[in-house]
This record gives sequence, C-alpha cells and structure tokens, in this order.
Amino acid sequence: MNIIIFGPPGAGKGTQSDKIVSKYQLFKISTGDLLRKEIKNVTLLGKKIEEIVNSGTLVSDNIINDLIEKIVSDNKYKNQIIFDGYPRNVQQAKNLNTLLKKHGQKIDLVINLEVSLDLIIKRITGRLVCSKCGNTFNEFFNPPSNLTCCKGGTLKRRNDDNVETAKKRYETYENLTKPLLEYYSKLGLLKNVSGENKIEEIAAKIADFINLIQG
Ligand code: AMP
Repeated sequence: MNIIIFGPPGAGKGTQSDKIVSKYQLFKISTGDLLRKEIKNVTLLGKKIEEIVNSGTLVSDNIINDLIEKIVSDNKYKNQIIFDGYPRNVQQAKNLNTLLKKHGQKIDLVINLEVSLDLIIKRITGRLVCSKCGNTFNEFFNPPSNLTCCKGGTLKRRNDDNVETAKKRYETYENLTKPLLEYYSKLGLLKNVSGENKIEEIAAKIADFINLIQG
C-alpha cells in the first residue's frame, strides 16, 4: 500500500503521517524533511535549496525527482510508503506514476486534508519542532509540556514558518499543487478529510479510509 497525504502547508500532513506510519508500519517520505537534511549539511546544493525554501516557492523538479527515485527504487520501501508533501505539481505526479510503474507499484489512496487559510497561518506560525527527534508541537493547539520534548532536544521554529513566507507558500499551493486534486480525483484515488478537527479525530477518519482499501 502506497499513500499520498495531501493538503496545503500547515494542514497537519506531517502530524497525521507520523500517526499512520506507526499504526500501519509504513515509511514516511517527506520531501520537505529530505530538503531540510540537505540544507543542514551546508553543501552548495543545500545553500541553493535553502534560498528557495525560505522564499516559499518550489525546489526544481529535477532535484525532487532524484530524491524520490532513490526511495522508490529501494526494495526496503516497496509498497510501504506514505508520501508527505509530494508530489507538489502535475509534473511531479506524472514522474511519480512513471517511477512507481517501473518498480511494479502504484498509489492506492490520496488523503486530502482540508483546512482554511486562517487556521493554516495559526498552525504554521505556532509550529515548534524538536531539534533532536523531529516531534512537532503547536503553541496554540498542541503545546509541549514544560516547553521541552526529548532529552537534549530544543524546540525550534522552522525558518520558513513566518507569516510572510507562509502566505507565499499558500499561494504556491493554490497555483501549482491544488490542481493535483483534479488529477487524483479523476484517477478515483482521492478522499477528502476535514483537517480542522482534533488530531485524534482526523487520524480516525484517515484510518477508516485506509482500512477500506486494506479490505
Ligand atoms: P514542507 O516541509 O512540505 O512544508 O516543505 C517545505 C518547503 O520545501 C516547501 O515550501 C518547498 O520550498 C520545498 N519542498 C518540499 N517538498 C517539495 C516538492 N515536492 N517539490 C518542490 N519543493 C518542495
């Protein structure tokens, strides 16, 4: 089973995919996380990526396609992937389709988390990420107790989690990513879930859809 978790920035894709990963023994592939890893390595490529990520636009399809090919071609992940934040445009979706086919796989389900722009801005500007384990909190909706997570970790804001970049990221989503809803709807794979409920309620709704395709 391969799943895509879809939605605007701040919809809760990361939080929900972490839950799915532990419940169904899948691997989460977040292109945003992979890019942030590259940025951390302070390579020439990492510096270029950092500029683009901080501007709220999309990193080039070539870079993303290379990252994804490494994963899809690796037997360890075969039919056990949840894609988070990927694909981000029609070109990437077509490339994913080709790659999966080449390696005898397909997408089984696309979960679309629906969230209003007002809530997105609050989710993004309130987000705090543990520097050690990557656990995510939100100072408005899911505050960490004692402002800590695991031992040795500190809670940090992402550089692109400010109002200005958040608005640009949303615009990028509307223009380039949202058309994918029609693409996956036509393929009969799309399921809409309100992303405005409590974390556990959203997770339960997603689980219902996954259980249905698992039979
Ligand atoms: P995310 O962690 O998914 O919110 O992604 C953070 C940023 O990384 C985005 O705003 C983009 O600049 C970049 N990014 C993540 N995934 C992709 C992708 N599939 N294609 C292009 N850029 C991406």
